[in-house]
Amino acid sequence: CAVMTPERYAKILRVLHRRQPTLTVLMDQVNKPHNLSAIIRTCDAVGVLEAHAVPPDDGRPLEFEGHAFEATSGSAHKWVRVQRHADAVGAVRGLQARGFQVLATHLSQRSVDYRDADYTRPTCVLLGAEKWGVNDAAAEAADANIVIPMYGMVQSLNVSVAAATILFEAQRQRLAAGMYAAPQLSPDELRNRAFEWAYP
Ligand code: SAM
Repeated sequence: CAVMTPERYAKILRVLHRRQPTLTVLMDQVNKPHNLSAIIRTCDAVGVLEAHAVPPDDGRPLEFEGHAFEATSGSAHKWVRVQRHADAVGAVRGLQARGFQVLATHLSQRSVDYRDADYTRPTCVLLGAEKWGVNDAAAEAADANIVIPMYGMVQSLNVSVAAATILFEAQRQRLAAGMYAAPQLSPDELRNRAFEWAYP
């Protein structure tokens, strides 16, 4: 474990000052560890404080400790907690009750271009499984359905690429709105997180 130098503590504070507790993702049965870890790495880069996941229903737990996860996440999983949920619709409703708009990455009659969403609002991006995408009930429960327009032969992007595309649009909007310029965490939360990160 890294030695806690004043420089390292200053970096922890700098990063926490830019964390965005009102931006998150919900990964619905994203079952490949390298995708999960690539998404977490992007979450860290844009300042997501806490991510959410529904584990795959193949009986396997969410894999956070495996070699693939470690290698792809670049240790980002140490800085972005993942909250587990039993099912996607329940998780969507829970996040909505906490004031988040849930944007499901899902092609439907009501889908809009992902750039038309307002990511300065408390926002959760719902991402689907590689094989079958976001399930219809969760997409219906979401506040909006968003898509990244595709003009190629292949119908969809890799889930971690889609997550990065959308989260960096959220970062762009939030930068323009000054949301990285002042801490979004309360002084108490900043203090507690800094202590947790410094002395895990
Ligand atoms: N066969 C699946 C389907 O029909 O939805 C494809 C799933 S895709 C490989 C995995 C996930 O990546 C999707 O559930 C979504 O979260 C995200 N994704 C992929 N392409 C996307 C796009 N063009 N727009 C928005 N999200 C996309």
